[in-house]
Amino acid sequence: MKEEQIHEHDRPIQYATRQLTFRSPVLEGWKWTVHEITAPNPGPLLCVMAGIHVNEVDGIEATFQLVERFRRELRCGTVSIMPIVNLPALKDRTQHVCPIDGKNINFSFPGSSQGTFSEALADALLNEWAADAVVLIDLHGGDLCERVARFSVAPMIGDKSFDEFAFAVAAAFESDIIVQIPPELLMKPGRSCSGRARQRKFAAFAEAGGNGLLDENSVSFHREGVLRVASLLGMIEGQARRNEKQPYIATEYHWLKAERDGWCRYAVEPGDLVENGQSIASVNDFNGSKMYDVIAPVTGIVLWRCTHAIVTSETDLFGIAAGELKSYVTNP
Ligand SMILES: [Zn+2]
Repeated sequence: MKEEQIHEHDRPIQYATRQLTFRSPVLEGWKWTVHEITAPNPGPLLCVMAGIHVNEVDGIEATFQLVERFRRELRCGTVSIMPIVNLPALKDRTQHVCPIDGKNINFSFPGSSQGTFSEALADALLNEWAADAVVLIDLHGGDLCERVARFSVAPMIGDKSFDEFAFAVAAAFESDIIVQIPPELLMKPGRSCSGRARQRKFAAFAEAGGNGLLDENSVSFHREGVLRVASLLGMIEGQARRNEKQPYIATEYHWLKAERDGWCRYAVEPGDLVENGQSIASVNDFNGSKMYDVIAPVTGIVLWRCTHAIVTSETDLFGIAAGELKSYVTNP
C-alpha cells in the first residue's frame, strides 16, 4: 500500500492504493487495485468501477483521470476507484466475457459467492467492496467491434422516492438517452445497477465510446458524469452543466441479432432515430450477393451497433431503445 497526502487549504486529502482480495475461493489469487481518496471531512462513500469489458477504454481512462481530480477536489467522504474489474480479460483483450468462465460479468449481477468466477466477482463487488457505498458507478463504452451512444441506465423499483433519486443519478451523466429498467426485469441477472436496485441501493451505469479507441468526448462524458454525481452527493463543489439538451427517456431495450453469417453494411449510427419497418442494415453472403435487410422492429433510438462488416448468426447487431421516448425536463 502506498499513501500520500495532498494539502488543500492545509487540510490533507488522503490518497492510498490498495490491493483488494475477496472471500470467495474461486477468486483466490487475484488482486484488484483500488485507488482510495479520503477527504478531511466525513461524508459518503462513492465507488466507481470500469473495465468489466476491458476494451471499453474510455471508461477506464476516465477512472485514472478521476483519481487525479478527486485528489485535488474532494471535500468530504471517500471515493474508491477500481479502474479494471475484469482482470483475466486483459491479457488477450477478451471481448464481452470473462475468459475464466466465458460469462459476461455485465449480466451476472447480483451474482453469488457460490457461483463461477464472474458470479462470485459480481457478488463480491456488491457485497464486499461497495456494500457501504451510497452510489456505485459502473462505466462502459463499446467493445472492440461496437460503438455506443451516450446513454445511462436507471433501474426503477416502483418506490417514488427511490426512483426519483435513482433517476437523478442517471441524469447527472447528461446522456443523450436514459434507459429505465422496469421493476419486473430486476429479478433477472443483470447489470450492477440492477443488482444494487434489488438491494435498494443507488447506482449509475453509463456508456460512451467504441472500438477500443480513446476519444476525448467519450472520456469527458464519463469523467464529468462521475464528478456531477459526486457534486449531487455534496462531495465536491458544483459542476457546470455541459449543455441544456434534454435526453430521451426510454422504457424498452431491444437487441437485434444477425440472422445468418455474412457481410454487413450498416445504414444507421448510435444516437440515430429509426422507425419501425426501416431498413437499418443489409447483409450479403461472402460472395457479395444480397441476402436480407435488417429491419427495425420498433420506432426508437439506436443505442449501439456492431461495427464489423463480418457478422455471424450469433452477432448482436444493434441495441435499440424504445418505449414512450419522453423528453426529460429538468425544471418543469
Ligand atoms: Zn460494457
